[in-house]
Amino acid sequence: MQLRDAVASLEAEQSDLRRAQVKAETDVEQVRTRIDRDRKRLDAGQVSSPRELENLQSEIASLIRRQSDLEEVVLEIMERQEAAQGRREAAAAERAEIAADRDAVAARRDTALGEIGEQAGKAADRRAAVAGEEPQDLLALYERMRAQHGGVGAAALHRGQCEGCHLSLNTVDLNNIRRADPDEVLRCEECRRILVRTAESGL
Ligand SMILES: [Zn+2]
Repeated sequence: MQLRDAVASLEAEQSDLRRAQVKAETDVEQVRTRIDRDRKRLDAGQVSSPRELENLQSEIASLIRRQSDLEEVVLEIMERQEAAQGRREAAAAERAEIAADRDAVAARRDTALGEIGEQAGKAADRRAAVAGEEPQDLLALYERMRAQHGGVGAAALHRGQCEGCHLSLNTVDLNNIRRADPDEVLRCEECRRILVRTAESGL
């Protein structure tokens, strides 16, 4: 993952900068020590010849310049460290946000799957309850028709039309249905599915 690589390289950069800072601070300290030593020699009056005195003063001046340069380096490193820290925090925050989004999507998916499972369970229960009340031979016929007709074993008769094959029944068939006993199992003459009479059947 790219973001993880970015975080790792920023961590490496920060650790390099920390080492550079320690080195620069050590350099500053060494220069300070030399300046102190030179000043002490000067103050103690240990230097007598004008030439040596001049050399010592010029060395002190150059050491002070060096100290100032090194302090600049330390400051610059600290600024770069701060910037690296900021970038690292931003990358880590982005990573956390992506992880949170991913978790939220997974949670929604799990909830949806749970609901679908629950509905499927209820539908299976309802189907079992209905099937339990029907005679065995009718159920067997229904299952046979269902297997032959892509899962639709029974169809409503709607305004004289079979909702399974969508063909209109002829007058003779409709008249036969009108005369049939309400408990009689009716079949579509075209597709042979079980025909279910409703108030909308057009009888
Ligand atoms: Zn039909």
